[in-house]
Amino acid sequence: MKKNESDAKTILNRLGKLSGFLNSLDVDASNDDCFNYPLEIIQKTMMFDISVLYKVSNVIEDRLILEVVKVLDPENLRPDLRENRKLRLFLDSRDKRYVNEVSAFLNKNVSCINIPGMGCDVIGFVFFPQECGGAYLFGGDFFGKESAVKDFEVSTVEIMCNFLSTLLLKTQFKQQAEYDGLTGLYNSRKIKEELGRVLKRLERKPSLSASIAMGDIDFFKKINDTYGHIQGDLVLREVGEILTLSMREYFDTAGRYGGEEFLLILDEIEGDPAVQIVERIREKIAATRFAQVNRSGKILENQFINITMSFGVAQLNPGVSQGENKASYDQTLAEHIARADTALYTSKENGRNQTTLL
Ligand code: GH3
Ligand code: MG
Ligand code: MG
Repeated sequence: MKKNESDAKTILNRLGKLSGFLNSLDVDASNDDCFNYPLEIIQKTMMFDISVLYKVSNVIEDRLILEVVKVLDPENLRPDLRENRKLRLFLDSRDKRYVNEVSAFLNKNVSCINIPGMGCDVIGFVFFPQECGGAYLFGGDFFGKESAVKDFEVSTVEIMCNFLSTLLLKTQFKQQAEYDGLTGLYNSRKIKEELGRVLKRLERKPSLSASIAMGDIDFFKKINDTYGHIQGDLVLREVGEILTLSMREYFDTAGRYGGEEFLLILDEIEGDPAVQIVERIREKIAATRFAQVNRSGKILENQFINITMSFGVAQLNPGVSQGENKASYDQTLAEHIARADTALYTSKENGRNQTTLL
């Protein structure tokens, strides 16, 4: 059977749509979700029976490890392509079903090698640097149709792969602008922005209340000095996870304020109840056994370390005006943070591993 072909006009039209989508993209979705719409357009444009997006997970010895991120396969023609499934492919293309995946990865280019009896497919390489999350492969399958892939179809896939890398770039920039790479919490700029938002609301509705807490790991320098920087990073990452898991959903927000300092915003709560939330987190951290690693980062079985944290809690005072301009607004923000810092300092002075309310 001959495969269906798109005409040039349809392709240009759809590429235009894709381009429009990218221009107007307000990226709130995670990297993987933002692919839904572009993949649908691409599938339609190319008239693929199946289209697929893989993330390049790793290369281990002679194997390429791909994770299936998205599959559009309305007729369920390729049950081997399930979302989240990991494929381990030999780099010498031993499995003919995935010959184009391996070739596209090795050559960093579109591959459309036609294997008789396997239908024909075309797979492109979506370049993305490793430090920004790594590469993707994208392509599709004209199932059981033996006509060769045309040059213009290869070019179209090439252009689409470039569209997809722009998409990744946009989501990545947003991610990097707001989140701390190590802990996954909001970064310092974003958590301060959140605090500003809460303060604005308090100013509008003084009957509401909110608190902030500044937390700092005790003797953290000693952890780096004793066990190495990788251990320090691991502890920071786990503290980030504990904070995320122990806070009230929808009310509390945590950010990495500085090196081993964390700022928590506890919305609609103040005084002792706020202290109780923070105390619960402090106790949880003190009770956690953190995995121990050697200086190369290898986990040492059955070896753990303990840490403690000190906290300072400050009530957000709705009476404090935020002023008209940005400078006075920044100053108000800084004053609130300084009060939490003073409370934290008191906890440190009084022997650490405790919470002080100011
Ligand atoms: P205190 O109980 O008074 O807070 O003592 P401390 O040792 O925790 O405080 P200090 O400010 O002396 O040291 C903080 C250390 O945190 C020093 C710095 O090297 C380390 N640090 C900051 N950011 C990172 C990071 O991202 N990774 C690692 N591993 N260490 C970090
Ligand atoms: Mg510290
Ligand atoms: Mg500190």
